Amino acid sequence: MTQTQEMEFKTEIRQLLEIITHSIYTSREIFLRELISNASDALDKLRFEQARGADIEDPDAELAIRVTTDADARSITITDTGIGMTQEEVITNIGTIAHSGTAAFLAKAKESGADASTLIGRFGVGFYSVFMVAERVVLRTRSATPNAKPVEWISTGQGSYSIRELDEALPRGTSIHIHLKEDAAEFANKDRLAAIIKKHSNFVSFPVYVDGEKVNTVPALWRENKFSITKEQYSEFYRFLTLDSEDPTHTIHINVDAPVQFSALLFIPPKTMDVFGIERDAHGLDLYVRRVLIQSKNKDLIPEYLGFVRGVVDTEDLPLNISRETLQENRVIRKIAQTITKQVLGELHKFAQDQERYAAFWKEHSKRFKMGYADFANQEAFAELLRFHSSAASDPDALVSLEEYVGRMQEGQKAIYYISGPSREAIEKNPHVEIFRTKGVELLYLFDPIDEFVMEAVRRYRDFPLEAAENADLRKLENLPDTTPDDAAAATASAQAEDMEALLTVMRRVLKDRVTEVRASKRLSHSPACLVSPDGSTSQMHRIMQILAKDTSIPQKVLEVNPKHPLVHNLQKMAQHSPDDPFLAMAVEGIFEAALLQDGYLADPHSLVERTYRLLEEASAWHAPKE
Ligand code: ADP
Repeated sequence: MTQTQEMEFKTEIRQLLEIITHSIYTSREIFLRELISNASDALDKLRFEQARGADIEDPDAELAIRVTTDADARSITITDTGIGMTQEEVITNIGTIAHSGTAAFLAKAKESGADASTLIGRFGVGFYSVFMVAERVVLRTRSATPNAKPVEWISTGQGSYSIRELDEALPRGTSIHIHLKEDAAEFANKDRLAAIIKKHSNFVSFPVYVDGEKVNTVPALWRENKFSITKEQYSEFYRFLTLDSEDPTHTIHINVDAPVQFSALLFIPPKTMDVFGIERDAHGLDLYVRRVLIQSKNKDLIPEYLGFVRGVVDTEDLPLNISRETLQENRVIRKIAQTITKQVLGELHKFAQDQERYAAFWKEHSKRFKMGYADFANQEAFAELLRFHSSAASDPDALVSLEEYVGRMQEGQKAIYYISGPSREAIEKNPHVEIFRTKGVELLYLFDPIDEFVMEAVRRYRDFPLEAAENADLRKLENLPDTTPDDAAAATASAQAEDMEALLTVMRRVLKDRVTEVRASKRLSHSPACLVSPDGSTSQMHRIMQILAKDTSIPQKVLEVNPKHPLVHNLQKMAQHSPDDPFLAMAVEGIFEAALLQDGYLADPHSLVERTYRLLEEASAWHAPKE
């Protein structure tokens, strides 16, 4: 007789069990999905070992999952012929190592007091969900390793479990005997269980029997002829694969014979699955070789920027005994990934013809998709799929493509222009948009910091370079006719001809090396001044670089002043007559700081405030009745 050991669950698991046993649930039935999914994983592992020729116990046992019920005893037993566990494995897997989702689950459950059964679904905390329905669980398992000793594990889910090795012979695999809680007696019913399995586990790739009858469908759906598959079957498979409760937005079914043979069944989920952050690294497609699951969520089958795509890939062109470690450098995997990338981009292109649906896709998945700017091999297709907000759209939420932009460009326009800012309102007050407004040239509005990286990487679309408004080559714009009559310009037209040199000299003297140059501007119509970067980088990009480098310095730029602006006009007159007037220096400082503020660089608001008060004080003195 071997000894029985009493052991404690690890703290995190104890907390998890505490929540699971004391919650009220809306759908306890998902415990069955979790146990069947574990059994299916165990069978996948066994099949993988078998495929690579490993020596295993009971090599001829059917790969299947059997569920039996006993209403009188109020019990269910779930048995698989999978990989099984040794005593050590049971202690580690069910008792010591908390699932990666456990911490997130605990945090959510504590914070929201939410229904734990919906959380279990989302975080997949698996095995322990059995304690939603179980009073007592007896798990018996025998590892597939030849001559391994069978093990028995018993727990009521109350903080500890007992474990012992068994002397009697057991078949390979794991059986989980559940003695149901009184209020969970309904589950000891064949029809009920069959219905639950059909609903949640229909596509498990091994037969599932309930009291001897097979209840699931087991097709490798991806290998079937696509014309014989209904939309409902696709949706059902998608929900099985992702645990999503909604239908996919788009389904892509690919069967390819050359240059490599593979089938893929891919889905675009309606909502991003990145919301909890923990899913970020979990992208990838499940890789099968001749229907044997080799690896779930293989990251080499699809680039990260298309990581919102979920699905499976099955190929004949890899050996079954391939090791997971060598997949990464594998030529076949690379070829499959290239084909899948092209196909997905092509499908998105078709899908984009339906603007409304594509806008919904863009809202959910564009954050990830934009990372595709680094995929140089597919840059053209990528650029076609980009969408932007725009100065030309009257609906602020409307999205435009580069194709649309080019289609309505001004005659003679030589580039595609864009500008970054935190919001539409902020951008529309930016002095750099003024010349574009005057010339009636459309500007793409970029609100997301990654957008500038996208523009810098893509560089051109068809024959047109992508240019930031603040660095636009004005000579290219000057030849275009003015479309918006410029009131400010008309009012002070004479000022334009005026010599600005006196003011520019004063400004250079006051600002010294805080600017690289001060010059009269051709781009402004309404604002008195703006900053222009001498090296062609945009202020948004520059700020991102500064944040990354923890640099808080203020960059040296060119200050451009608008000769048509009344303020500048007045200052020019002052500069001609009394260049040393302290008010003039104060006004120059004020203009400079306002320009910095608009570019997002102002580090010291205090001096700005102080100067504003002094200027207001002087101005108010003009208006107050003389004492
Ligand atoms: P997950 O399955 O998500 O890893 P679980 O808590 O459901 O988390 O299971 C923990 C571990 O216990 C599994 O990873 C697996 O190693 C082991 N396990 C559970 N059920 C079985 C089974 N039927 N056969 C073999 N191993 C199992």
